[in-house]
Amino acid sequence: MIAFDDVSYGYGGTPLLRGISLRLTPGSFHFLTGPSGAGKSTFLKLCYGELMPVDGKVSLIGQDRAAMSRDDIARLRGRIGVVHQDCQFLDHLPVAENVALPLTVAGREADAGELRELLSWVGLGSRARALPPSLSGGERQRAALARAVVLSPDLLLADEPTGNLDWEMSLRLLTLLSELNRMGKTIVIATHDLNLIRAAKPMVSARVLRIKDRQIIHAGAEL
Ligand code: ADP
Ligand code: ADP
Repeated sequence: MIAFDDVSYGYGGTPLLRGISLRLTPGSFHFLTGPSGAGKSTFLKLCYGELMPVDGKVSLIGQDRAAMSRDDIARLRGRIGVVHQDCQFLDHLPVAENVALPLTVAGREADAGELRELLSWVGLGSRARALPPSLSGGERQRAALARAVVLSPDLLLADEPTGNLDWEMSLRLLTLLSELNRMGKTIVIATHDLNLIRAAKPMVSARVLRIKDRQIIHAGAEL
């Protein structure tokens, strides 16, 4: 699904990630961990094509990022869903319309029944007409998750999705992500919360990647 071959990245000449080679295979579930500033968000941006590697090759669903056109990247948005750290919404539009926005942007009509089902899956069935400023933190994250999967992507990337949530809500979000994985989606969750990774053990067979010394390594059992 995603392949990194000897990839390096840095901002303004300062190296951040160096010589990264890894594969994210279809249906896999990965946590990406490492301290704040280690480059987790940067790695995710490389995975969804927002950033181009300074060195090496990134392949996104079989396409070399360096050879992709603007249209290719736009098409990729339908295959790779992203839950950003600070989920932004259009505050004047109800939750349902915000969630359906990727469909609208892609020029597709939202199927009312499917949208309702998606909202109830994330527990926002009764909040469809609410405006984003009235949502709690947990509701915002779940709305952002619904929006990220509304185009039925193959791959879902989530950047600190539980960063602002209490433990109960974090587990609820984790459960939704593991359900998506059981439906066949490839999942990557960037988090510095090791408790979240431990809590996922009974739910999903996850691998843990850790950023250390500008490298991404498979973390062992020492978690
Ligand atoms: P993490 O997600 O692990 O906290 P990031 O990938 O957000 O790490 O950031 C890694 C480092 O790169 C940080 O030191 C951050 O300040 C720096 N950085 C991130 N984005 C930019 C940018 N657009 N320009 C310059 N430096 C950046
Ligand atoms: P099921 O509906 O088969 O019982 P789940 O209990 O796992 O499956 O709930 C998943 C539901 O969430 C699906 O029925 C679907 O309506 C909705 N859903 C999940 N992911 C997506 C997606 N990518 N696009 C649209 N709807 C989705």
